[in-house]
Amino acid sequence: MLSSNDAIVSGPWRRRDSQRVLIAHGQHQIHVGGGAPVVVQSMTNTDTADAIGTAIQVKELARAGSELVRLTVDRPEAAAAVPYIREQLDKMGIEVPLVGDFHYNGHTLLGDYPACARALSKYRINPGNVGQGAKRDTQFAQMIEVALKYDKPVRIGVNWGSLDQALLARLMDQNAARTAPLSAPSVMYEALVSSAIESAARAEELGLGRDRIILSCKVSGVQDLIAVYRALGRRCEYALHLGLTEAGMGSKGIVASSAALSVLLQEGIGDTIRISLTPEPGGERTREVVVGQEILQTMGLRKFAPMVIACPGCGRTTSTTFQELADKIQSYLRAQMPQWKLAYPGVEGMNVAVMGCIVNGPGESKHANIGISLPGTGESPAAPVFVDGQKTVTLRGDHIVEQFEAIVLAYVKSHYGQHSVTI
Ligand code: SF4
Repeated sequence: MLSSNDAIVSGPWRRRDSQRVLIAHGQHQIHVGGGAPVVVQSMTNTDTADAIGTAIQVKELARAGSELVRLTVDRPEAAAAVPYIREQLDKMGIEVPLVGDFHYNGHTLLGDYPACARALSKYRINPGNVGQGAKRDTQFAQMIEVALKYDKPVRIGVNWGSLDQALLARLMDQNAARTAPLSAPSVMYEALVSSAIESAARAEELGLGRDRIILSCKVSGVQDLIAVYRALGRRCEYALHLGLTEAGMGSKGIVASSAALSVLLQEGIGDTIRISLTPEPGGERTREVVVGQEILQTMGLRKFAPMVIACPGCGRTTSTTFQELADKIQSYLRAQMPQWKLAYPGVEGMNVAVMGCIVNGPGESKHANIGISLPGTGESPAAPVFVDGQKTVTLRGDHIVEQFEAIVLAYVKSHYGQHSVTI
C-alpha cells in the first residue's frame, strides 16, 4: 500500500524574491521580476542605422513572441535611426519595448540624441565598457542621469568578455594577500558579481530606484553561469536578466543554454531570459525566441504555443510520412499563434500528439487534447485520431495532414474563446 511518504510529487518550485521593474512603451507594459512571469527577450543583428531593415527584424522577433527587443546603439547613425525605427514599429502596430545596447560611447549618444533616449524603453549599460579611470564614474553617472531624466529602467549587464579590469586586478591583489587564496575561477566569479552589485549601488546613489535596475552577469560556460547567478541571486534583490552569453550555434547553443537556464530557473533564479544563439547561415533570428519560449514552456513555467508531442520514430517508421506530419503540424500551430492568441485565449496550453505507430500512439494520443497515431511499417494504412481521449475518426489516404489540421482548427474554435477569426 502506498503511504503518503512514498507519494511522488513534483516541485516545490518557488521564484526568488526580487524587485519588480516596469518596462513600458506607451500603454504597453512589461513587468520583469517581483513574481511576474519570466520574460523572453531577443536582440537584433541588423545594422541599427538601417532603420527599415531593423524595424522589419524587430517586427519578426516580436511576432515570434519576443517581449522585449534589444538593439545595438553603437554610433551616431544608429542613435539617429532609433526614433525612426520606433515610429515605423508604431505604424505597424508593434508595441514591443526597445532596449538600447550601449558600450564605450553610450553617455555621448544618449546625451547627443535625446529622441533616441526617449524612444528606448530601457538602456543596457556594461560597467566594463563605460570608460577607464576617472572617466568611468563620470560616464556611468551621465548614463544614469539620462535614465532619471526620461524615467527609464536600466540593465547593468556585466559580461566576462568585457569585465572591469580595474576591479578584477583589485580583487586579484586582495586574493593574493589571503593566507588561503581562492581559485582563479572563484576570483573571476567574485569580480563579475561585485561589478554588477557595486555598479547598481552607484546607480542607486545617483537616484535610480531599485525598481528601475535589472542585473546580469553573463558568461559562456554552463557551470560558471550557474555558480555566478546563484551568488548573484543570494546577494541582491534586483531583478535578474539570465542568459548564457555566446552560447554558440545549432544544437550546442540550444543545449548549453537549456542546461544552464533550466538549473537556475528551477531554483527560481531569473526574471527575464535571452538565448544568445549564433544563427546558422540563412537561419532565422527568431530561433532564439522560440528556444527561449520552449525552455520556459517545457519546464511548465509559461505557455506560449500549443506543444506537439511526437515520438522519435524507430524501425517501425521507415517512411518519412510521420516526420513530415509532425513537422507540418508543429509549423502550422506556431504560424497560427499571432491570430489564435488574440481570438482563442488559452489555446497556448493545448497539447497535440503526433505518434509514429500503435505501440505508444493511442496511449500518448489519449493524454493529449488531440492526437494522431500514424500507421507504422506493415500496419494497415489508417491513422486513428483521438480528441479529449476518445477515438473520433480514422484518417486514410493522401490528405491526412490537411484533414488533421482541420480537426485541430475545429477543436481550437470550439474549445477556446468565442470570437470568430479569419485564419
Ligand atoms: S510510437 Fe511506435 S514509431 Fe514511435 S518510437 Fe514508439 S514504437 Fe517507434
